[in-house]
Amino acid sequence: KLRVLSGMQPSGQPTLGNYIGALKNYVKLQHTHDCYFMVVDMHAVTVPQDPAALKEQTESVTALYLAAGLDPNVATVFLQSTVHEHAELGWLMTTLTNMGELERMTQFKDKSAGKDSVGAGLFTYPSLMVADILLYNADLVPVGDDQKQHLELTRDLAQRFNSRFGDTFTIPEPYIPKVGARIMSLDDASKKMSKSSSNAGSYIAMLDAPDVIRKKISRAVTDSGREVKFDPQHKPEVSNLISIYAECSDKSIAEIEAQYEGQGYGPFKKDLAEAVVATLEPIQIRYNEIRQSGELYEVLKQGKERAAVQADAMLKQVKEKMGFIIL
Ligand code: ATP
Ligand code: MG
Repeated sequence: KLRVLSGMQPSGQPTLGNYIGALKNYVKLQHTHDCYFMVVDMHAVTVPQDPAALKEQTESVTALYLAAGLDPNVATVFLQSTVHEHAELGWLMTTLTNMGELERMTQFKDKSAGKDSVGAGLFTYPSLMVADILLYNADLVPVGDDQKQHLELTRDLAQRFNSRFGDTFTIPEPYIPKVGARIMSLDDASKKMSKSSSNAGSYIAMLDAPDVIRKKISRAVTDSGREVKFDPQHKPEVSNLISIYAECSDKSIAEIEAQYEGQGYGPFKKDLAEAVVATLEPIQIRYNEIRQSGELYEVLKQGKERAAVQADAMLKQVKEKMGFIIL
């Protein structure tokens, strides 16, 4: 079985973009692959997090993993911070990363734009992500389009390590969906939908109540035309909504275009909202059950133990190859 690894940051309320671009694929891959899915809490603290909120968000993301359909007896579900090898290999990878490589990262540019000062961790975070992936010798990494550049860095560093210290790491491939790899903000189709956005109207949270979802979609920016047509270049807002519709229904983009021909945006948005509600409502019901059941910490403990076995063996091998004394 090929190995899969990925993760989501507990940096806010997971969005429909996280679901479509990543989580939905985690669920799909779990039965055919050897899967490791973590909540990357150490990544979340690259921007300031309130301690109580971090804990709540970490529990919430874990519960959403399970509610969306991840089976902890099939996939290994764990918290990044509970497997200390991530931080250790992260440091070693930081030493192998060039400043120029980090300076080119568009996520750093986006997240630091307009800020007076940012933590150094926001800058070096891609090296920790490299470690997250290489620690498990992952073959495939299901991510949204925004993570492509970090995956490239991961591949480069795996190759760099292998050629300097001898064959050690698998070179991982990104697994990026064809539709829905980059869901855009509802208020600005030039920006990706993000859970850390300060404007709650820009995203649909996976836990938004049905009426909130309906309101957000009815307010979503479109254009002054009235054609429901998929044309990301000239109609980015409408195209984004069509992608969401296609991902939340079993309709193709062409079928959606045909269905609303000549009707303007009103009926389209109404049906779209119902498709999103129908996708998220069952997840929300399971989510509430899971939060009430108190099972989360048990799941995470079991995941930690399984992950640590892999991580420990791999880190030892890496340290040995680099010349560290293993006692
Ligand atoms: P943050 O703003 O804190 O970075 P985020 O919404 O970008 O939050 P992450 O935890 O960074 O979420 O990413 C989790 C996964 O979701 C990644 O695989 C990422 O590529 C994917 N993803 C994030 N945003 C989108 C989006 N708008 N469309 C599709 N996939 C996305
Ligand atoms: Mg992100």
